[in-house]
Amino acid sequence: MAEFEPIRVKDYPMIAVLTGAGISVASGIAPFRGPGGTWTEKDIEECATARALKKNPQKVWDAFSFVREKSNKVDPNPAHKALAELEAKHPNTYIITQNIDGLHQKAGSRNVLEMHGSIHRSQCTKYCSDPFDDTKKEFWKCPKCGAPLRYDIVLFEESLDYNVMRKIDEILNELDLFMVVGTSNLVYPAAGFVDLVSRYNSKARIVIVNLEKLHFTDPRCEQINGKAEEILPKLFKYD
Ligand SMILES: [Zn+2]
Repeated sequence: MAEFEPIRVKDYPMIAVLTGAGISVASGIAPFRGPGGTWTEKDIEECATARALKKNPQKVWDAFSFVREKSNKVDPNPAHKALAELEAKHPNTYIITQNIDGLHQKAGSRNVLEMHGSIHRSQCTKYCSDPFDDTKKEFWKCPKCGAPLRYDIVLFEESLDYNVMRKIDEILNELDLFMVVGTSNLVYPAAGFVDLVSRYNSKARIVIVNLEKLHFTDPRCEQINGKAEEILPKLFKYD
């Protein structure tokens, strides 16, 4: 593991942490795509797009039901727990996550912005009512109007939730410490968050925790390379 100076949390009035698939690998959740990913591009096209949902909602449901089942079974790992502890001790902390597994909340985090929704909620495909908590893994119909249900997740070709994204914009402008954990930083718009902070938030410290070294042109981007579940529990200093 890389050597690093622990971060003195009280020096940063507002903290935000962007998390990606890498933080959940140690909990047994494989990333959808990329090295070690469970999905091919063809799977994505057939089961994870807005077009697929329109064509065959049950196929999309069935393709993701193992994700719901798995996410229900697994536990948060030391990286999720370290971030929950950070928020407990420093309440002006926000997690911006690309993950749909709900593990941050399971670890105890409360200020969680889910960019891509949550596999633990379902939503009517006619949007007749709000998304609701759901643990069923068999395909079923909207209890209100009978339309097919879908998971409350953002599929490819769908837009991100306006309210969530607006809140994220506010946070990126105001934060004093921005951390990026377990994301190869390749999927937009999350990929652009570091750029936004580095261009528009001159006071922010930027710390990236990732398995491999990433390329950033802003010299302010500090990198700690290694496993999030090993680094995060030692990263924050509270005195
Ligand atoms: Zn409905």
